[in-house]
Amino acid sequence: MSTDAPLGFSSRAIHVGSEPDPTTGAVVPPIYATSTYKQDGVGGLRGGYEYSRSANPTRTALEDCFASLEGGERAFAFASGLAAEDCIIRSLLSPGDHVVVPTDAYGGTYRLFNRVARPWGIEHSIAKIADVEAVRAAIRPETRMIWLETPTNPLLGIADIAAIAEVAHEAGALVVVDNTFATAYLQNPLALGADVVVHSTTKYSGGHSDVVGGIVVTKAGVTTASGEDVTERIGFHQNAMGAVAGPFDAWLVLRGLKTLAVRMERHCDNAEAIVDFLKGHDGVTAIYYPGLPDQVGHEIAARQMKRFGGMVSFRVKGGEDVAVKVVGETQLWTLGESLGGVESLIEHPGRMTHASVAGTELEVPADLIRLSVGIEDVEDLIADLKQALDRLT
Ligand SMILES: *Cc1c(COP(=O)(O)O)cnc(C)c1O
Repeated sequence: MSTDAPLGFSSRAIHVGSEPDPTTGAVVPPIYATSTYKQDGVGGLRGGYEYSRSANPTRTALEDCFASLEGGERAFAFASGLAAEDCIIRSLLSPGDHVVVPTDAYGGTYRLFNRVARPWGIEHSIAKIADVEAVRAAIRPETRMIWLETPTNPLLGIADIAAIAEVAHEAGALVVVDNTFATAYLQNPLALGADVVVHSTTKYSGGHSDVVGGIVVTKAGVTTASGEDVTERIGFHQNAMGAVAGPFDAWLVLRGLKTLAVRMERHCDNAEAIVDFLKGHDGVTAIYYPGLPDQVGHEIAARQMKRFGGMVSFRVKGGEDVAVKVVGETQLWTLGESLGGVESLIEHPGRMTHASVAGTELEVPADLIRLSVGIEDVEDLIADLKQALDRLT
């Protein structure tokens, strides 16, 4: 099935890359647990497979599917979201280059730029990416990349991908969008002008909290400032650096993608109901959700996203102590890091996911609670939050 077939999202999610196996008819691509492949005479490869760091059929199935879902030329699967990001940085930047990074980037992304890339000579500035003019002001002659996350983590800020892509391209910089929170179902950054998309597939794409992975999707015809083809650069580095997704991990993410659309619709339904509940609770002092009409960036989100996603953050009366207690007092909501699984998770970003950015410009409010709204029965989720908030705020 060709990736440009005029099929809908779920038809592609279920079928692209997963054609029935030609020898057995198996409907689901096997987990090819093999490191190497028999050659029919020297260089006589069957289907191009030579060694599983370079390519593995289970990984290819996932990569073909993801490229179709994001509308990209090719996709490359990695062992984690951060391995995928590292590959983008090392493939597309050189010492002396400069990157613009969001104020509320995923903590691990910021750490990668600040503590890994910077010592190797790649500089960055931090900008409020909700403000196109702030992004423009942060651009230097050496700027080669604008890194976007939208919605952001954990404050659900929104960046205007199309507007920033215009500013970036005028300056000769590439636009990379971390699409983990929105997913390929709710938002397709390449169609909005971005050059590269990255996901932590650990989150919604896998969707069941049972795998760690990452993916990079590239757009056809994009070149670096020095004229090199972006797809070729990423493909070369995926193999040369070797942080690839193993076949079982690739298989789990591929299975997750097949239900991505139905899961996301339910995540969105439940998140909207929970936002309504939080609006009516007097222990809640602020809510961050791009679907709220008074949220900064709501109009942009409404334009570039199909719906507003399953992540909700809010602040509570009584400060950090109360926030820390609330996240420890729910039963159905599991206290834990990560997000995007079928089960609902609750956490305190200041002490958990975002502890590594304490004391930096990316520090988050101490009374903030982040929810990854799962797909359980929403009445149960609301009742559980209510008992914790009623007692503690
Ligand atoms: C989790 C996450 C990452 C990092 O991915 P890993 O799979 O944990 O390496 C990057 N960006 C965002 C938005 C994330 O949520």
